Amino acid sequence: MRFVHETHSQRVRFATGEAAGQLEEEIAKLGASRVMVIVAEPEMPMANVIAGALPVVASHNEVAMHVPVDLAERASATATRSRADAVVSIGGGSTTGLAKAIALNTGLPIVAVPTTYAGSEATNVWGLTEADQKTTGIDDRVLPRAIVYDAALTLSLPADISAASGLNAIAHCVDSMWAPRSDPINTALAEAGIRALNTGLREVVADPMGIPGRELALQGTYLSGVAFASAGAGLHHKICHVLGGMFNLPHAPTHAVVLPYVLALNAPNAVPAQRCIARAFDAPSASEGLADLRSALDAPVSLRDLGMPESGVVDAVDAVLVAAPAGNPTPVSREGLVALLHAAWEGEAPL
Ligand code: NAD
Repeated sequence: MRFVHETHSQRVRFATGEAAGQLEEEIAKLGASRVMVIVAEPEMPMANVIAGALPVVASHNEVAMHVPVDLAERASATATRSRADAVVSIGGGSTTGLAKAIALNTGLPIVAVPTTYAGSEATNVWGLTEADQKTTGIDDRVLPRAIVYDAALTLSLPADISAASGLNAIAHCVDSMWAPRSDPINTALAEAGIRALNTGLREVVADPMGIPGRELALQGTYLSGVAFASAGAGLHHKICHVLGGMFNLPHAPTHAVVLPYVLALNAPNAVPAQRCIARAFDAPSASEGLADLRSALDAPVSLRDLGMPESGVVDAVDAVLVAAPAGNPTPVSREGLVALLHAAWEGEAPL
């Protein structure tokens, strides 16, 4: 056994119904007195309650998927102009992503209050999009200093968005099994993440207003983010980043659609990972476990339904070939990728 594992420093608070008080404590711990809040318009009523007692000097409400560069620059300029000394993000991965872009530009610390299962709050990965191309990078300045998980804030997340978002978290776990820095520690976290999400997401969809399922889904989300941050981006993430940037596809549903195909491609050549995923799903095989969960969640099935043009497959394949990680368990070929993306575009059963 020979590996190097790095653990990131971050405080994580789980406190259902207590986001406001927990957030106040985190801001006090930072010694911050000029807070900039990042929140998308639909989440503003929620944010007004949670951040009501904070010393807020600026509120930025324009948020967009995959963080366009010009938006990041405008938000960073607001942070500088308002002399903010901390950033609080309240919302999904797009909101956290914008806070990260500000941190990248200004070095300001972030406290994240996630309201979806994207998991970005637990990673030091940033992403920016310009001219249809998504660039990602790693920088410890973008890792939120603290996370406040409050399951009550996710009750308003509709069942279909919860399902897609949760499958994005499952994708972090599955891809961690063969990502460039995969090791026995992040694999164990990923396995625990799949187990929590598999139970939690089923409960969420069956009873969207139930707190226990929401809590378990957030627990799995955090584990998925930590595993992904540690293991790095595998083939699945590279494919989804290319598709998201090129065709502006919705992030979580894209992950939900593509994952079964990457799992089917890699499972035969990644036997320990396959067994680990199957164990976490409590299923005979990894693919059967994922298929069963996807069916229970009524998951999205095709890239076509998400708005990708069929003609885009060839362009996407070229870009994925450049980005694909060297150590993928199944060698990545042009023919293999064309077949994978065509099948995902059609929504055909994975081979
Ligand atoms: P999102 O943040 O765009 O949110 C999806 C929708 O859900 C939005 O319309 C939002 O307003 C709504 N919403 C959020 N919380 C809600 C709530 N509690 N109730 C009702 N509606 C709510 O989507 P996402 O899937 O959370 O995040 C996707 C983004 O996150 C992408 O840009 C992706 O690249 C990024 N991401 C980054 C990392 C990373 O490590 N850097 C990891 C995962 C995702």
